[in-house]
Amino acid sequence: MSVSAAGGVTRVPAVEGWYTLDHEPHLIGCRCAVCGTYVFPPRSGACPNPNCDSEELVSTPLSRVGTVWSYTENQYAPPAPYRAAEPFEPYALAAVQLEKEGIIVLGQVPRGIMAADLKVGMPMQLETDVLYREVVDGVDTEFMVYVWAPAGPTAAESIGGRS
Ligand SMILES: [Zn+2]
Repeated sequence: MSVSAAGGVTRVPAVEGWYTLDHEPHLIGCRCAVCGTYVFPPRSGACPNPNCDSEELVSTPLSRVGTVWSYTENQYAPPAPYRAAEPFEPYALAAVQLEKEGIIVLGQVPRGIMAADLKVGMPMQLETDVLYREVVDGVDTEFMVYVWAPAGPTAAESIGGRS
């Protein structure tokens, strides 16, 4: 999957099959056809619910909104195969509980938003951001990652009021 962006840059997901890159991006998870348990990242095989013996997980879009369950800040570049922008800039991570599915999905937050800007219970919305940029086979390519961005007026206020 790739999406052409303005200026001759091609956008591709840094991880294939985990999220979409459309204007309202969403995560792609799986749901057990028998008991309804959700999983992310997507995978095939048996249901993770110990009380369910289903062998079938079905690919499904997950909701784009949730609330902060926990968060942290990464001050050092994670080891390979993680690809970070150069030079490395510290970034925050949010564990967000999806509104509909109830599962918790860890993700980076947009550059410039740090742990001090986040609060447990804060509403978040899925967006995408450039993880790194590279020329691939002569094509300027942006590798996109999903991020959890604060959503709604409450979040905007608390970030604006930090200083
Ligand atoms: Zn199941």
